[in-house]
Amino acid sequence: MSVWDDVVGQDKVVADLEAAARSARALAEQRQERAGASDAADGASTGTAAMSHAWLITGPPGSGRSNAARAFAAALQCTGDVPGCGQCKPCRDVMSGTHPDVVRLATERLIITMEEVKDLIDQAQRRPWTGRWRVILVEDADRMAERTTNVLLKSIEEPPPQTVWLLCTPSADDVLPTIRSRCRLITLRVPPAQAVADLLVRRDGADPELAERAARASQSHIGLARHLAVDPGAWERRRRLLLAPISLRSVGDAVLAAAELVENAETEAAQATAERDARERTELLRALGMEGDAKVPPSLRAQVRQLEEDQKRRAKRARTDVLDRAMIDLLSFSRDVLAAQLGSDVERVNIDLAEAVDQVARATGPEQSLARIAAIEECRARLRTNASALLAVESLMVQLRPQA
Ligand SMILES: [Zn+2]
Repeated sequence: MSVWDDVVGQDKVVADLEAAARSARALAEQRQERAGASDAADGASTGTAAMSHAWLITGPPGSGRSNAARAFAAALQCTGDVPGCGQCKPCRDVMSGTHPDVVRLATERLIITMEEVKDLIDQAQRRPWTGRWRVILVEDADRMAERTTNVLLKSIEEPPPQTVWLLCTPSADDVLPTIRSRCRLITLRVPPAQAVADLLVRRDGADPELAERAARASQSHIGLARHLAVDPGAWERRRRLLLAPISLRSVGDAVLAAAELVENAETEAAQATAERDARERTELLRALGMEGDAKVPPSLRAQVRQLEEDQKRRAKRARTDVLDRAMIDLLSFSRDVLAAQLGSDVERVNIDLAEAVDQVARATGPEQSLARIAAIEECRARLRTNASALLAVESLMVQLRPQA
């Protein structure tokens, strides 16, 4: 067992990060020796070319960027024989999210705020408490406004000698060129479906046959595959979603289908966040000296309201993620239809819906499939902005409805 076990189907990435962790260790040991001998100047020196103070870890959604970043952080702090052993205390602490020198920002907002970034920069300036490095991990570095990025840039340009920045984004184009040029780039690929299936069996105890089907249906999106492999209701929801456009007879049907889709997304997001929301509220009230259902006095209402606003934002982000998954599923269906129409032998995603795919392929032409794919992509882009989700999905459903 090592920290790399969950970084599936990414042999090259693991090899590169492992090599970097080794040279980071050599660098840290040199630094220690130097500190013992004299207070000579710090900085890069011989044999450490594989290490960098700033990393940009990219890969398509669901490919495991943040898993890879976390494993790398563990390997940097590891005190075992081989960096990333997974057994030593630093490895275990990083993997469970409790290492004091690995600061992680995983925003649940649609955008990373200036305050969050200033706090990170502040954290980056400190020396490590117990570890060899101070690691600052930003999971959604693409969710930063340009103004915020510019503040971050200064810290990434000249970090303290023991600080390492790990930025994760879907692609290298998601950050400003100025940031990109200062980071070493690591690119994850879409993992093979079989590797994702194996992970679900090993890590989540999923049934092998179901795991394989889920990995394929999710197009190797690890989180989505897990969802399908462990939630019995997920397949049925997915099936209904994909078959919905076929049965739409009128604009009215399309509007209803859109409302149902958005409502389902809201319910699913609420289920995902409800438990945590309630716990946070109880903890806050307790911290404020209140128990149970006591009425919040006016002087403390602002703090409770702040929490509620944060939770509302988080719920919105969760809903956006659920809807985005729905869009990915709809895209896979239309692509399967297009592949059938063109007689292409690319592997189908929706094997369980082959009959419906063939039916749509016969009833329509490739131009229609392309138009549908474009409409879904457009809706997806609109959902990522602040536009009304319902209006975006309504307009999509109207376009997806069978044209006479
Ligand atoms: Zn270790």
